[in-house]
Amino acid sequence: MSDDALRRAYDLATEYLEHVGTRPVGARTSLESLRSSLAKPLPDDGVDPDRVIEELARDAEPGLVANAGPRYFGFVIGGGVPVAVAADWLTSAWNQCAGLYVVSPAASVVEEVAASWVCDLFGLPKSAGVAFVTGTQMASFTALAAARHAVLARAGWDVEARGLFGAPRVHVVLGEEAHTTIFKALRLLGLGSGDVVRVPVDRQGRMRAGALSDALRRLDGPTIVCAQVGNVNTGGIDPVGEIAEITRPRGAWLHVDGAFGLWAAASPALRGLVAGVERADSWVTDGHKWLNVPYDSGIVVIADRESHAAAMAVGASYLQRAESETRDGIDWGPELSRRCRGFAIYATLRSLGRRGVAELIESSCALARRFAERLVAVPSVEILNEVVLNQVLVRFAPPNGGDRDVFTREVISRVQAEGTCWLGGTTWQGREAMRISVSGWNTTESDVDRSAAAILDAASRRDR
Ligand SMILES: *Cc1c(COP(=O)(O)O)cnc(C)c1O
Repeated sequence: MSDDALRRAYDLATEYLEHVGTRPVGARTSLESLRSSLAKPLPDDGVDPDRVIEELARDAEPGLVANAGPRYFGFVIGGGVPVAVAADWLTSAWNQCAGLYVVSPAASVVEEVAASWVCDLFGLPKSAGVAFVTGTQMASFTALAAARHAVLARAGWDVEARGLFGAPRVHVVLGEEAHTTIFKALRLLGLGSGDVVRVPVDRQGRMRAGALSDALRRLDGPTIVCAQVGNVNTGGIDPVGEIAEITRPRGAWLHVDGAFGLWAAASPALRGLVAGVERADSWVTDGHKWLNVPYDSGIVVIADRESHAAAMAVGASYLQRAESETRDGIDWGPELSRRCRGFAIYATLRSLGRRGVAELIESSCALARRFAERLVAVPSVEILNEVVLNQVLVRFAPPNGGDRDVFTREVISRVQAEGTCWLGGTTWQGREAMRISVSGWNTTESDVDRSAAAILDAASRRDR
C-alpha cells in the first residue's frame, strides 16, 4: 500500500491548479507525441504507484486543456471550484456505491439533501424525483423515459412491461434548435429521432410559441414537448411559461433542457428570463458546466415521482432494501453501481450558498456582456446574438475585404494557436461564428480584457 502515490497526486494536482492560469490554454502537443509518451507497453510486472502517478502527470500535461483556468471559453465547460474538487477527492477515497441506502447510508442521505437543495434553488416542486447522473445527456434520457411512461400510461399502455411494439404512437415536438442530446435520448428510448415534429425558432434560436400551438393542434394522442432554456450557441431561452400554458391543457408532457440555462432560475436577477419554468414536468441540468463541479455531474428533476419511479425503479432479490423511507439511488437513475455524485454538489451548494450561486451565474453573464462590448467596439466585429446569458457569438470581417466565413474561421484558429485563451466556432443560422462561453468560476474582468485584446489582435492581422 502506497499512500505516497496519494500524497504525490495531491502535490501534483495543487501545483497544476496553482499554475493553470499562466500556461497556454490549449493543448501544446500533437497526437503522435502524446501517443509516443503515453502508449507504453503494458508491463508484465507492475510499476511502482508513485512513479506511475508522477509519469502520468508528466506525460499527460502537454495534452491537457486548461479549462480549470480562467481563460477557457470553449463549448460550455466549467472549471472546478476548490470545494467541489476537494469533495470529489473524498468521493474517490471513500469509494461509496451510491445505488442503495444499505451500501452507503451517507451517500443516500447526502444525495437526498442535495436533491432538496437543487429543487429549492431552482424553485421546482419539493416533491419531485431527482437523480444524479453523468450529464445532461443521461438526465434527458431519464426524464424522457418518465415522460414516455406517463403519456403511454394515460393512453392505457404499460410501456415498461410491453415495450413499444404495438404501442400507441408517441408524438415528440421540439424546437428546431433542440440540442443533439435530445435526439440521442429519443433514439435510446425507442422513440426514434427521425419523426419528431420540429417547431420553427426565432433569430436567437428560441421556439416560437405560436408555431408550437399550431403544431399541437394538428396532433392527437400521447405527446411530449421538449423546450430549451439556454441555447448552446446564443444562450437564447424558449418562452417556457407560454409553452407550459400551451402544453398543459393538451395533456402533453413538457421537458426542459436547461443544461446550463436553468441556472438562471437560481439568480433573483435572472429568474425572469425563465419565468414559468416551474410549470414543466421535467428539467435537466449540469453541475459540471455552470456550477463548476468536476465531471461528471448531471441532474434530472421530475415532478411526477410515480412516473419517474415507474421508468427507473428496479428490483432483484439480492439488492437488499432498507425498510423505511430511505432513498435508493437505483430507483431514480439509469445506473446501478456508480460514484456518489451528490457529495460534490452538496459541498459546492453549501459552500456557495444561495447568494454565492447567484453571484457565480450573474458574474459570468456580466463578463460575457463585457466581452461583447470590448469586441464590438471595433467596426469589423459583429455580435450575432443578444447576450442574455454567458454566450457570445462573434463574426469578423477581414481587414482587406473578403469572405467573412473564411476569415472568422481563420481568427478562431489564430486565437487557439496563440494561447492566451481558447474558444471554438460554430455555424449560426448559416453564418460562421466564434463561440465564447464564460462558464468558469475564476474568470475575472482582466481575463476578459486580455482575451478580447488577443482576439482583436488576431482579427487585425492580414498575414496568414
Ligand atoms: C451541454 C448541453 C447538453 C449536454 O450536456 P452533457 O452534460 O454534455 O451531457 C445538452 N443540452 C444543452 C443545451 C447543453 O448545453
